[in-house]
Amino acid sequence: MRVGIDLGGTNTKIGLVDDNGKLIERFSFSTRDFSKPNNWVKRCLLELKGIKGIKTIGIGVPGAADFKNGQVLYLPNLPGWEGVKIVERLKSGLKKDIKVAVDNDATCMAIAEHRFGAAKGYENAVCITLGTGVGGGLILNGRIYRGSRGVAGEIGHFPLVPWGKNCSCGGRGCVERYVGNRTLLSWAHRNGIIKKGESLEDITARAKQGDSAAIEFWDKVAYTMAPVLVGVVNLLNPDVVVVGGGVSGAGRFVLSPLKKYIKAYAMKVQARSVRIVQAKLRNDAGLIGAAMLLDL
Ligand SMILES: [Zn+2]
Repeated sequence: MRVGIDLGGTNTKIGLVDDNGKLIERFSFSTRDFSKPNNWVKRCLLELKGIKGIKTIGIGVPGAADFKNGQVLYLPNLPGWEGVKIVERLKSGLKKDIKVAVDNDATCMAIAEHRFGAAKGYENAVCITLGTGVGGGLILNGRIYRGSRGVAGEIGHFPLVPWGKNCSCGGRGCVERYVGNRTLLSWAHRNGIIKKGESLEDITARAKQGDSAAIEFWDKVAYTMAPVLVGVVNLLNPDVVVVGGGVSGAGRFVLSPLKKYIKAYAMKVQARSVRIVQAKLRNDAGLIGAAMLLDL
């Protein structure tokens, strides 16, 4: 039995996953109530108590993690986690033969999509998750690419606008500042596409009914972020780009224009060989990928 733990800013999900990536059981608790690392570890151990036959545990975290050293480096929305040796801490409360690993949640998503989802069978895949934050994971030559300190794949912090808006990462003009959920919501609100209290899903629902302002909105989102994906496609020549996260719920309304712009503006050979697809595993990708962390 494998366990995947998805540490989210709001909730922590724990899933029991079999070797074929099937989610067998899932529990969750509020991260906010256990946001200090020690409390969080204790709460996880409590949930894991009594589960028999655990072989490996993988943890996905919303930020920078060092897989090699089993350490959280920095979580932008969870203060107090900097430098926490999470693998060691969790292991100290578990049977000795249980292996534990940690990695970034978007990397976990990429692993899951590559093993069981939309990137299955491809050697080179770029996965991007669009939500409150914008994350990314890279599969190159069939393996996860982690870079020098384990933090590669941060597509969300690619400078889309030179010297643009300040970003929480310390950079400027990052993609996340322009297509993160919060920005999209205020943009839609400012332009009268949604009323107060409505969500991005409401825009998708209207697009499905043929509302031209809603369709135009998603086209604009794709148009805004396309330059970064064009750059990534030119740089890496991937077989597939998998788009996941909340915004990908807009489905074809965001994917079709993305395809259109990438095909039109990426270099010819790269543009011809790349497929742009929606993530398959949706909300469970992080859990399933975390459970598979120790395989790659
Ligand atoms: Zn940034």
